[in-house]
Amino acid sequence: METSTRLCLACGKTVKGRIDKKFCDDYCRNVYNNRTKSDDNAFIREVIQVLKKNRRILAGLLGEEGMLKMPKTKLLHKGFQFNYHTHVYTNQKGDNYYFCFEYGYLPIAGDWCLLVKRKEEKIPAG
Ligand SMILES: [Zn+2]
Repeated sequence: METSTRLCLACGKTVKGRIDKKFCDDYCRNVYNNRTKSDDNAFIREVIQVLKKNRRILAGLLGEEGMLKMPKTKLLHKGFQFNYHTHVYTNQKGDNYYFCFEYGYLPIAGDWCLLVKRKEEKIPAG
C-alpha cells in the first residue's frame, strides 16, 4: 500500500485522497492560483517600471534634440538598464536600434550610443 506524502501546494498540509490531488480543497486551490497570478503581475509591473525609467532617462538626455551622441557610462550612471527594451528596429544598413517605447539608442563605437526618438508613433500591424 502506497503511503501518501503529498503536500498541499497552498497550505503545506498533507493532502488526503486521490493520488493526483494537489490541494486540500477548492479554497486552497483558489489561494494558490491567486498567489501565482499576483506573482506574475508583480514581475510584469517590475519590468514596466524598468522600461519606463529607461524611457525617462533617454527622454531627459535627448531633450529637444532629434539625435544625440552620449557615452554609455552616462546612461548607466542614471540607472539605465541596457538589457531591457520594448523592441528593436533594424535599418537598411543592418544597424540595430534598441527602443524603450518611442525613445531608443544605437550602440556605436567606443562605448558610445546615439540616442534617437521615433518619428512615426504607429506600431506596424501583425
Ligand atoms: Zn491546503
